[in-house]
Amino acid sequence: MRINIAIDGPSGAGKSTISDILAKRLDYVHLDTGAMYRAVAYLGLKKGLKMDEEDRVVDIIQNEMDLVLNPDGTIICNGEDITHKIRTNEISMAASDVSKLKNVRKALVAMQQKIASKKGYIVDGRDICEVVLPDAEVKVFLTASAEDRAKRRLLQNQEKGIAGDYETILADILKRDYQDSHRENSPLHKTDDATAIDSSNLSIEEVVDIIMKLVNEKI
Ligand code: C5P
Repeated sequence: MRINIAIDGPSGAGKSTISDILAKRLDYVHLDTGAMYRAVAYLGLKKGLKMDEEDRVVDIIQNEMDLVLNPDGTIICNGEDITHKIRTNEISMAASDVSKLKNVRKALVAMQQKIASKKGYIVDGRDICEVVLPDAEVKVFLTASAEDRAKRRLLQNQEKGIAGDYETILADILKRDYQDSHRENSPLHKTDDATAIDSSNLSIEEVVDIIMKLVNEKI
């Protein structure tokens, strides 16, 4: 039986890394919803929009955005490979800004629900357990301390050749945490039916094992 796995949590908690490993192990597909908000922010900025121009941003999503999320993790937007371009601090903040808009969320949530309707998806984001996949068979809320998340993000950035220092990354994480959990539309929070996992003192493998146990109980 194929199920859906919903993973919510703040930025840098390890959602993407864990989801990629689970996808390989289960032969499922990882849907990175954060990458969708990032792609919208990237395209909006490229077209000279401000991140509060809701109607124009929605119009872009519906009429001017051809987004391909490949199983190998590459992201192609209107023929352009934006895989690495959407990982800068500027795009992180712009994605957080654009994700506050109700109709932007509505448009992207509809796309996400359509994709995952086939089952066999690991969907990670902020509102997956409650809004995107309220019926997901496995729900996880993955956290870690802000300091641990900043350290991990710094390492990841260094591996990808993205410039940045620890203090700036930590400040960015704290600002996004606040913004993502205090917004009016779908604020980040743990739902009662989600299993909380704090990855601060756990290895990646340990987190994967905990989630695999939850999955095996369902399939
Ligand atoms: O997960 P990631 O850090 O790539 O997400 C970028 C931004 O997109 C987040 O800071 C958040 O504001 C937004 N987001 C969201 N809902 C999701 C996924 C991401 O609001 N399901």
